[in-house]
Amino acid sequence: MTPPETSLPLGATIGILGGGQLGRMSAMAAARLGYRCHIFAPDADSPGMEVAAAHTLAEYDDVAALHRFADAVDVVTFEFENVPAETLAALEGRVPCRPGTRALAICQDRIVEKRFLAEAGVPVAPWREVTTEAELQAGIAEIGLPAVLKTTRLGYDGRGQAVLRRLEDAAPAFARLSPKPLILEAFVPFTAEISGIAARGLDGTVATYDAIENRHRHHILDLSFAPARLPASAAAAAQAHVAQVATALELVGVVALEMFLLADGSLLGNEIAPRPHNSGHWTMDACHCGQFEQHIRAVAGLPLGSPARHADAVMRNLVGSEGLAAWPGILAQQDVVPHWYGKLEARPGRKLGHANRLLPLDTLHALDDAAATSGL
Ligand code: AMP
Repeated sequence: MTPPETSLPLGATIGILGGGQLGRMSAMAAARLGYRCHIFAPDADSPGMEVAAAHTLAEYDDVAALHRFADAVDVVTFEFENVPAETLAALEGRVPCRPGTRALAICQDRIVEKRFLAEAGVPVAPWREVTTEAELQAGIAEIGLPAVLKTTRLGYDGRGQAVLRRLEDAAPAFARLSPKPLILEAFVPFTAEISGIAARGLDGTVATYDAIENRHRHHILDLSFAPARLPASAAAAAQAHVAQVATALELVGVVALEMFLLADGSLLGNEIAPRPHNSGHWTMDACHCGQFEQHIRAVAGLPLGSPARHADAVMRNLVGSEGLAAWPGILAQQDVVPHWYGKLEARPGRKLGHANRLLPLDTLHALDDAAATSGL
């Protein structure tokens, strides 16, 4: 297929807001497609800067630096959704931003996100907006306990939330999390956490990866199993839900949708990330076109690649000192593809790399967890 005329020419520069591992792996995929990347981030030790053709070291509210950045690149994307909306707004109009401010704004606020999911046709758990302790009490009366109280903005990896099991938990949780705007959600008795990953191209085409089952440890993603061991109808629903989200967001790029699987096989949407996602790292080695290449293809206006899976995969995150200690063992495995992010300090909770164990196609479902994760 000839690339559409709207696609970026070879040698063009893609600007990436954020310099973490997602920016790094996006830049590596971009280089393979013949593009340069320019990373904009406030931290000098950004893993993305190491592998990018250029970088700007500046704060996200430095408008002069943002304007210089806009002039130096052909298109802008971001690698994390907590980029201030004003930062993207300062760039839009000067340079195409993919995704744009609308998708970013929807995913930055849990209340806007919940409304959006329901409108996009993805069911969500009952929730209430909470700004006062009286609203919290009223919310608990309506939704019941247990429930989860979360800040509406800037929460990730379990930060900014509290599980309320008894009425007495409400006041201390409110005191800890307020005065930020809060959301009270019914506690979902999920049997598994599932994610769906999709890409949407500039022409509106959507490509969806197989659904993934995720396991967390200390609130951080530990393992992803691909494909998720799900009844076929639930797997198809998970893929349909993330495709609905990509279309309704009018996204150009990759999006992840985190979902809860219930005992009856139904799914509830939890959170959207409008960018490549940790639970999609297995696609780098087990699919024809991995999520980072797919993101760059979308942002560059190229046709999307095939999301088809040619192997089953289990991904383990390498986190903190434990992740560092596991690295030599990972390198010794013949069926494991190692990825290190170039971070020098193994701080607790810090994602240092990941490892993708590849298995023959359609064999994962027959393995128990110990067999599936051996060598990881
Ligand atoms: P989040 O920041 O919304 O992704 O939540 C982090 C983790 O907390 C999720 O991956 C779940 O394990 C858990 N969690 C979040 N919301 C709920 C909920 N409403 N019911 C049960 N568990 C939840």
